[in-house]
Amino acid sequence: MRANRKRDTGPEMRLRRWLHARGLRYRVNYVIHTDDGRMARPDIALPSRRLAVFIDGCFWHGCSAHGTNPRTNSVYWTAKIDGNKSRDLRDNEALRESGWVVLRIWEHEAADDAGPRVLKAARFAGHL
Ligand SMILES: [Zn+2]
Repeated sequence: MRANRKRDTGPEMRLRRWLHARGLRYRVNYVIHTDDGRMARPDIALPSRRLAVFIDGCFWHGCSAHGTNPRTNSVYWTAKIDGNKSRDLRDNEALRESGWVVLRIWEHEAADDAGPRVLKAARFAGHL
């Protein structure tokens, strides 16, 4: 498990409950091995539809609205967060090349905003 990805955070739980209340059934802690040998662990996965949903923390993934720019050790943090962002992109690419639909949601997004996007993607992915 990635040390910087906390499980069962508030925004993630709220989105999961929102989806569950609308009948969506999904897996958590589902591990995907991509064709190129990477390992991805989406926060919410629908393996039958090959839909992977990630809820990205604003700080760790460099959200442009809330990604802070720490004054102390700023070189360290900037490099760290840039590294996370490029890893996110590589993960997205590897998953898509392996036939998965990838959806990334910011932790600051309300469940009422993010939830419908997941439902829409689930319907779309189911018809691929
Ligand atoms: Zn944010």
